[in-house]
Amino acid sequence: MTLKAPSLSSFRRIVVKVGSSLLVDPKEAAVKRHWLSRLADDLATLHRGGADVLVVSSGAVALGRSVLGFPSGALPLEDSQAAAAVGQIALARLWAEALADRGLIAGQILVTFGDTEERRRYLYARECLTRLLALRAVPIINENDTVATAEIRYGDNDRLAARVATMASADLLILLSDVDGLYTAPPASDASAAHIPLVPRINAEIEAMAGGAASQYSRGGMRTKIEAAKIASTGGAHMVIADGRNEAPIERISRGERCTWFLTPSNPVTARKKWIAGSLEPRGAAHIDAGAERALGAGGSLLPAGVTKIEGSFARGDCILIRNSSGSEIGRGLVTYDAADAAKILGHSTKEIERLLGFKGPDEIIHRDDMALSGE
Ligand code: GLU
Repeated sequence: MTLKAPSLSSFRRIVVKVGSSLLVDPKEAAVKRHWLSRLADDLATLHRGGADVLVVSSGAVALGRSVLGFPSGALPLEDSQAAAAVGQIALARLWAEALADRGLIAGQILVTFGDTEERRRYLYARECLTRLLALRAVPIINENDTVATAEIRYGDNDRLAARVATMASADLLILLSDVDGLYTAPPASDASAAHIPLVPRINAEIEAMAGGAASQYSRGGMRTKIEAAKIASTGGAHMVIADGRNEAPIERISRGERCTWFLTPSNPVTARKKWIAGSLEPRGAAHIDAGAERALGAGGSLLPAGVTKIEGSFARGDCILIRNSSGSEIGRGLVTYDAADAAKILGHSTKEIERLLGFKGPDEIIHRDDMALSGE
């Protein structure tokens, strides 16, 4: 069987990562406005086609350092924080304007390492992303470099973009870079290096092909891109590395121009479900009535009204068992309320949640996407 690169129109949620050196001209230290406006055309086309679009944009430090007149080369942490503070405002404005010109709404999200790695904060960040996408806005995401510490940070937006892709259950991550994909050896230093159009699975041989190269303006070399591909493919997203230097780079991918595809063996939902079904220690259980069991069987979420009893002591985001009226486990899922709050709202309609808890939480106790039913 020959594997073919998928068609861009087959994806429903796409994360596009834009590297600093694409947005900011390294020589002039100025924004490439025309390039950005052509990329915004590309994004608008994806969006019009029905896909949810998320952007992970680098460039805060690169923009800020030119405004502040910092010299080239590595910056001390406090200078790069200051540069990010100055540059991020400019970056957000550029994106908001470029998208608004095409009738799209931009929403800025700045995350730190803990926001994606700590489960509770991850869930809050994910809720915000999900809401923005439901409103058809385009989240513009970057690491919050002004408060990220030297030890605890992503540092490169390749891996951040991959985490965002899994957090958003995206099915495609596009890394726009200054290389047109993966080569058997670093092409700059090895003339015999051959381009690889498609990687069905990342193995030791593929990892060995990634050099460590990084330029002054972009932190991630091929190594962080392979790391990103591993995160994305485990999370159920395909990934593509494409040369973003030319105009309308996404249109070029759809025309079949040179790039490297990394395929995921599964789709996001089944990957998440496997993760939920297999790897988590359940902290409690929700007993549900026959009506709720039927609703879950028909593809619905678990609402408080169908829950008859809560067992165990769990926090929001923990994995719990779902038991039917005869006590049998019928599945498990990530719960959106802690045990005390879940016990307060069980048996009630979603309209009553706010009155019972004093805040407006999610409608469902376990969302469909966070649930793995036995036999699924
Ligand atoms: N977050 C950094 C910035 O916006 C960029 C990190 C990267 O280039 O990967 O400047």
